[in-house]
Amino acid sequence: MSLEEPKSMDECVYFTIRADEKLKTKAWVLKEKCTECEKSLMGKPKDPKTGRAKIRASEYTCEECGHTIPKEEYEDTLTINIKYTCGCGHSDEISMPFQRKRVQRLNEETGKKQAIETIRFECSKCGEQIDITKKMK
Ligand SMILES: [Zn+2]
Ligand SMILES: [Zn+2]
Repeated sequence: MSLEEPKSMDECVYFTIRADEKLKTKAWVLKEKCTECEKSLMGKPKDPKTGRAKIRASEYTCEECGHTIPKEEYEDTLTINIKYTCGCGHSDEISMPFQRKRVQRLNEETGKKQAIETIRFECSKCGEQIDITKKMK
């Protein structure tokens, strides 16, 4: 299996590279075509004044036919592609539904537990759970 990496950020709904001493992950979610007209990729609506996508918009829309879906609903149908190198030294690739799970995690700065959203998968060799957490603000 070999995942094809996106050629440009414009193809992606989500793209992230994380790396620390133990773990390297690269993950991306490709935009998918409008399910209504199948002509155009769904994207964030554009600001008519600037012509630029409104990245904070809570919906995706088709430029071709105007079909609009709420952000969560659209993202739930997508697939996240992940390339990783685990702490055990194993490198692999995985594709899975782009659905974040809520988990409790200790915030090292505040010492308090907090709920975070994460894409969680397991190393195909050692079974270690690997998280791609949503970046904190
Ligand atoms: Zn359409
Ligand atoms: Zn591993």
